Amino acid sequence: MENFAQLLKEHGLKATFQRMTILSSIHELGHANVDEIYEKVRLSHPTLSLATVYKNIVTMVEEGVLVEVPIAGKKSKYELKKNEHLHLICVECGSVMDKELDSHLAEDTQKVAQRSSFALKERQMNLYGVCDKCQMAEAS
Ligand SMILES: [Zn+2]
Ligand SMILES: [Zn+2]
Repeated sequence: MENFAQLLKEHGLKATFQRMTILSSIHELGHANVDEIYEKVRLSHPTLSLATVYKNIVTMVEEGVLVEVPIAGKKSKYELKKNEHLHLICVECGSVMDKELDSHLAEDTQKVAQRSSFALKERQMNLYGVCDKCQMAEAS
């Protein structure tokens, strides 16, 4: 298990049990929306409200512990902050897969930004499509 208490402290946040539980739930789920996180958190802490869970998620996004992954037409998902990566998002089952951002793609986006005198801070790229599981299900 990751050291979530340490992670929170590094970002200047108190390591409350709510936050620790939310982080370990997201860690297990990979990418999850607020409802999915709430469902999981409730298993161990049935008294926590959705509002409390949401408020803590927002704080942890603001402090850079979590990253919001906006998904077209759906509720945002959240993940632990990792190195820059691409998302392959399945429009059928909603699964989100992390893929390494290759250096060519990173350079290309940097060039696009430079041409517009845009100071690039970070990248978040979502590719929408149909995952291999859903393709197989369709074919059978
Ligand atoms: Zn799928
Ligand atoms: Zn991700």
